[in-house]
Amino acid sequence: MKPTATRHNFRAASSSAIQNKRVQKAVRNTAGLLARMRATTVNTKPEFEELRNWGRNRKLLVSENLEKWVAQFKAQVEQQGGVVHRAKDAAEAGRIISEIARERGITAAVKSKSMTSEEVGLNDILQDAGITVTETDLGEFIVQLAGEHPSHILAPAIHRNQDDVRKLFTEKLGAPADLDVEGLVRFARKVLRHKFLEAGMGITGGNFAVADTGTVAIVTNEGNGRMCTTVPPVHVALVGIEKLIPSIKDLPDFLSLLTCSATGQRASSYISMTTGPRRTNETEGPEEFHVVLLDNGRSSIAASPWREMLHCLHCGSCLNHCPVYHAVGGHAYESSYPGPMGSVLSTLLWGKQSYPELANACTLCGRCVDVCAVKIPLANYHRTLRHQGGSNSQTSYLAARLASHPGAYRRGIHALRRMLRTQPLTKVLPKINKSVANWQSCRVLPVAGEEQPFRDWWHQHQPKGQAPKLKRVETKEVPSVPEDKKAGTADREELLALYRQRAGALGVEIVETSVAELSGLIGNLLKDESVSSVALPRAGWPQKLDERVAEILAGADCQTVSCEDETGWNMAALANAQLGITYSSAFLAETGSLIYPAGAGNGTLASLLPEVHLAISASSTLLSDLNAYFKNEAGPLPSRLTQIAGPSRTGDIEGTMTVGVHGPRRVIHWILSDLDTGQ
Ligand code: SF4
Repeated sequence: MKPTATRHNFRAASSSAIQNKRVQKAVRNTAGLLARMRATTVNTKPEFEELRNWGRNRKLLVSENLEKWVAQFKAQVEQQGGVVHRAKDAAEAGRIISEIARERGITAAVKSKSMTSEEVGLNDILQDAGITVTETDLGEFIVQLAGEHPSHILAPAIHRNQDDVRKLFTEKLGAPADLDVEGLVRFARKVLRHKFLEAGMGITGGNFAVADTGTVAIVTNEGNGRMCTTVPPVHVALVGIEKLIPSIKDLPDFLSLLTCSATGQRASSYISMTTGPRRTNETEGPEEFHVVLLDNGRSSIAASPWREMLHCLHCGSCLNHCPVYHAVGGHAYESSYPGPMGSVLSTLLWGKQSYPELANACTLCGRCVDVCAVKIPLANYHRTLRHQGGSNSQTSYLAARLASHPGAYRRGIHALRRMLRTQPLTKVLPKINKSVANWQSCRVLPVAGEEQPFRDWWHQHQPKGQAPKLKRVETKEVPSVPEDKKAGTADREELLALYRQRAGALGVEIVETSVAELSGLIGNLLKDESVSSVALPRAGWPQKLDERVAEILAGADCQTVSCEDETGWNMAALANAQLGITYSSAFLAETGSLIYPAGAGNGTLASLLPEVHLAISASSTLLSDLNAYFKNEAGPLPSRLTQIAGPSRTGDIEGTMTVGVHGPRRVIHWILSDLDTGQ
């Protein structure tokens, strides 16, 4: 929901939300699943704790001097041919983007998921300016069709189950009424494919804005982000100034922090790194690249004690672990930012007068702090907001007074227990005073039983003798992740085994083979997938591979679509190709992923639009991780650098993992042992 200056009533919204058991179940299922996925991966990453400290320190470096990093980023984007616009508030951001569209006669835009655009209310602003915006993330597409707003920063349709989505697609899009989750995803793919091809503008957010290269990096699993950044002729990235990070060398570790915290993935399916518009020798990508840097109160937050709130990576982990969010869902917060991070951020961005109660949308259990990617002290922030006055300050004051006087506390608890022998807690508390009655009215309280009180139990069981003294734990500044950890030290065979394991787990079909075997392998694949059209961008391939593949396909009964001349792709033909064959110039063991730099005639869209993607690599191009790739590549970054980890996927309908949303449902990787990259 776009926040407004009016007073939002969390008490009323949460009171009705908590009654909606269907939504509650849907939220708990998906948020619980995401939390378990995070735990599984983090438990296998002993360095993760150190990485969280590192992330916090790097973010502190930026937030203490935002303007310096903004200036560096702006200079770099402009040097690469992009345009940077500064927007002081939401209205200005909307006006800038509307004008970019209006001046170019653009009437249709596609958008990938961006909470910053929700904050701005961008869709409504563009709609008023006569520009149709289609949300392309499946979850966002569902909530847009339903006329709603996202209820989770990562899984926007978390509150809707598959029956809801089926009904919605049937009513609004005329979809058959018997589609299962996979059928619903396939149906959305078809509808949205047309929107991508027709749009004059692609709008994205930005997970990271890299100051020393002017790069905007976005992570998606479905591939809609890649579509938005590559297919339309104009790309606009709306990015909050807090998304800056100092260096491209920081990016791999921040990506790891983000994806592990969000979904437990070592890498999302797609990481799109955009550095300027398409260059003169490139055959795909947008002609214009605009970055709208949004302030909207962030500079003031950076100069305040709440500064760390700007470090948020929007991973959603705090939502997934929050008992309040599980109980009431996202819409009760009436903000584009729900959950623990949203309670604090909404209050800071729009003021306590707009969100007077969100500080109380917290049990202070601290789970959010334990799982926050960059250790934002969310519980302290909630506590401080309460101290500064909220609707329940009187209750908190009474509780604090009682707790700070042990004698009074003991007598009070004993009196309460006596009363509870004859009446339930829900009847007793309202009698204390009106403030306590209000506090109790929106909470589910445990039934007090006849069990022995803890204090009595402790008196009976505590060890005799002197109690041990508590020791203060020293905290110290944790340094950056050591270089050798980043680069990886395993030898080649170990790396290959790691790649097989990681990529295999993502569903990549790996074959280690040789150039001589290609003929049979390609023939079988064409037959298995009934391929009549192959997308084949051959520029930049090793000559031996290029000649061999061209020869094999010339003898096959299928047509090829390429992008080697300056007119680029025939998009309609590309969209109809069933198979894309690409040469991946590097592949990474740590994340099981493939690397694609944009280049002359090097059409990376062949890895995205067809249903099946066949990637071919030389075994010698295996690297440990993205850090190693950046170390290897000395020159400037290409306009687009893409990392691909497995097929296009989504869990946006009830957390059911489904492949082939916007990109391929199959990714096949042939690793050639006898291919010399210099050949
Ligand atoms: S506050 Fe922390 S856990 Fe919550 S979304 Fe932001 S980075 Fe993730």
